[in-house]
Amino acid sequence: MAKEIDWSNLGFGYIQTEKRYVSNYKNGAWDEGVLTEDANVVLNECAGVLQYAQTIFEGMKAYTTEDGKIVVFRPDLNAARMADSAKRLEMPVFPEDRFVDAVAKTVEANIDYVPPFGSGATLYIRPYMFGSNPVIGVKPAQEYQFRVFVTPVGPYFKGGAKPIVIKVSDFDRAAPHGTGHIKAGLNYAMSLHAIVTAHEEGYAENMYLDAATRTKVEETGGANFIFITKDGKFVTPKSDSILPSITRRSLEYVAKEYLGLEVEEREVFFDEVKDFAECGLCGTAAVISPVGKIVDHGKEICFPSGMEEMGPVTKKLYDTLTGIQMGRIEAPEGWIKVIK
Ligand SMILES: *Cc1c(COP(=O)(O)O)cnc(C)c1O
Repeated sequence: MAKEIDWSNLGFGYIQTEKRYVSNYKNGAWDEGVLTEDANVVLNECAGVLQYAQTIFEGMKAYTTEDGKIVVFRPDLNAARMADSAKRLEMPVFPEDRFVDAVAKTVEANIDYVPPFGSGATLYIRPYMFGSNPVIGVKPAQEYQFRVFVTPVGPYFKGGAKPIVIKVSDFDRAAPHGTGHIKAGLNYAMSLHAIVTAHEEGYAENMYLDAATRTKVEETGGANFIFITKDGKFVTPKSDSILPSITRRSLEYVAKEYLGLEVEEREVFFDEVKDFAECGLCGTAAVISPVGKIVDHGKEICFPSGMEEMGPVTKKLYDTLTGIQMGRIEAPEGWIKVIK
């Protein structure tokens, strides 16, 4: 039985569901893993994650398609990305096939929390891993916990996707050769002051520039940029310190293979942003949030697509990718993992 939840009025917050997946790493090996009803984690006061922030995570969604299947979008890419994150933080890799299996098991165990088709709501899936044994001298933990929980979340845009206004941040998100390309909690901890400041100033998000030269576009705190040129090309920044968004990589494919657009993944100088026709932020949460205006220390860049609706090409990209996700449009091989 579907839960008595008012799906259309859900926000983006934590709602505890029945089951979560837990596997522990000890003496050089992962245990077999288990679904548990216990939502609390009990750790020693000196656990590695509490002292030196050795923690990584992933984010994806399960949802109900038009024909009533419950599916997850490209979880194999989240598994691979989490493996990359683990290696960079000297953590053991949770095997990629087991990652996908743990996600499927957790969704299945909480199937009543998957919102129905058409509600706009989805089941957000959060896999994560952290150092769990006591660590006081600075070094990697020797024991780890991998967990997956799910929480139903509401439609990202209530009443349509209105373009947002963002600012060019005075803070940096990621250093060259740093950890910007992995999904680590530490990248978010240090972005909190920047986003709270931006919100206080009335901006929805920060545009971060490259830390070395402050001339090139990187990304926001949690989404990659896409731009559309006036002659209809799809452009997205290329940088070693950007988190490789699965949504963005999927949009590149959709732009090229479904919409026949020319796709450029390259360095994007901030100076050329004023010449683009459309701008959007992409990530699992919203798929694409249209950007109407970028403010750079009082100087405004207003995109011709305006402040009322998504630009026309962005809209096509959005409709095609969400169509693929919801089963209205045929998906490329391997993109949709059917849970039930
Ligand atoms: C998770 C994340 C994204 C979006 O990635 P998706 O795989 O599309 O959800 C973009 N930037 C940062 C910094 C992120 O952490």
